[in-house]
Amino acid sequence: MSDKVITRFAPSPTGWIHVGNLRTALMNYLISQQQGGEFILRIDDTDQNRSKEEYVDGIKRDLEWLGITWDRVERQSARLEKYEEAAEKLREMGRFYEAFETPTELDLKRKKQLNMGRPPVYDRAALNLSDAERDALRAERGAGAWRFKLNQSRTVWQDGILGEVSIDGASVSDPVLIRADGQILYTLASVVDDTEMGVTHVVRGSDHVTNTGTQIQIMEALGGTPPSFAHHSLLTDPQGGALSKRLGTLALKDLREQGIAPQALLSLMSRLGSSDPVELRVEMQELIDGFDISRFGSAPTKFDAEDLKPLTARYLQTLSAADVSDEIAALGVPADQAERFWAVTRENITTLHDLEGWWTLFTQGADPVIADEDREFVAQALELLPVGAFDDDTWASWTAAVKEKTGRKGKGLFMPLRHALTGMPNGPDMGQMMPLLQVVKARDAV
Ligand code: GLU
Repeated sequence: MSDKVITRFAPSPTGWIHVGNLRTALMNYLISQQQGGEFILRIDDTDQNRSKEEYVDGIKRDLEWLGITWDRVERQSARLEKYEEAAEKLREMGRFYEAFETPTELDLKRKKQLNMGRPPVYDRAALNLSDAERDALRAERGAGAWRFKLNQSRTVWQDGILGEVSIDGASVSDPVLIRADGQILYTLASVVDDTEMGVTHVVRGSDHVTNTGTQIQIMEALGGTPPSFAHHSLLTDPQGGALSKRLGTLALKDLREQGIAPQALLSLMSRLGSSDPVELRVEMQELIDGFDISRFGSAPTKFDAEDLKPLTARYLQTLSAADVSDEIAALGVPADQAERFWAVTRENITTLHDLEGWWTLFTQGADPVIADEDREFVAQALELLPVGAFDDDTWASWTAAVKEKTGRKGKGLFMPLRHALTGMPNGPDMGQMMPLLQVVKARDAV
């Protein structure tokens, strides 16, 4: 075996991936890239009812948009025989047993245990069935579910984020690895894949910690070497509440549609929850070089989608007009004005979607804002404003003329004019903006 680092991102294609999934994907990706290793995109699609091709395509599109590239794709649905082989091995070892309880019966057992103040761990009743009892149950109920017989000892591992973790096998129910309807569950499939594909590092959410205890036992039973595990904390909303319900609205595809820049998302999600500051990083290589999983803490991590906006704005400021020429042309901005349009707007937008509002303002004019006490002043000023196209000098010469005529200067001169022409208290430099301004609605308002 080589000592090449191999990681994987293993989403189930049962929905659009969101910021929480991205955190997992990114950590695994960065580790593999830092070590010159391999990154596998593994589609966990053994649940045929809930897995959809549309989501597989969506996952790939989202990762491509972010520039997270994979070395190969593996699909669990294409590997069912491997899982059957592993199941057979476990049966032969006496570590796999068929159980026939219905969900209602299991629920009742759990309630009874809880009532008696005992942990709701499966009582292994099925292990004690005689052959005759088992045959009778099978005849009556059909095939049962297959459970893995855990060793009732502690499984300990050195977690890349949590430090030493120990899971007591006696406190966990023997996990069902194959359902009564024959569906292979992720717990088994993942163990087989991680072992056969030589995965060396697994980073995933801390909701998998108990699962890891179980999976290490299964791997060891099958003769495999467990990878290094690291469990990152789960994301919460800015108030510390569960984010799980809101994750549906934090799908990567929605953030993309809102105009969030990939660089903003990557910069935030690769550092959030660590002791390293979140700073805009434009190049993936910078994220790779600076990534250190040991700097992540175990406390829940607050996530605020609003943080993506200033990062996006900052990223856009690094771009040239040529970088966004397609977006600018799509608005109908003539090529010879693109450079100026971008120079004027780039520090006044949060996302590229905001460009449209500026172009509308320049081509259709802004609804003026004129305070009562400035009405007379603005009327006088507009009489001095040249008719026809404005140029680089228009603002300077116009305001000089207005100053001379009205005696106003400084803020008292400039602010009412900005308000009248743009409808806003601040924005781009007026001198630079004037040549783009095609309509002055204020002329009709005074
Ligand atoms: N398909 C699993 C999930 O999305 C993968 C977990 C793992 O990384 O092992 O939760």
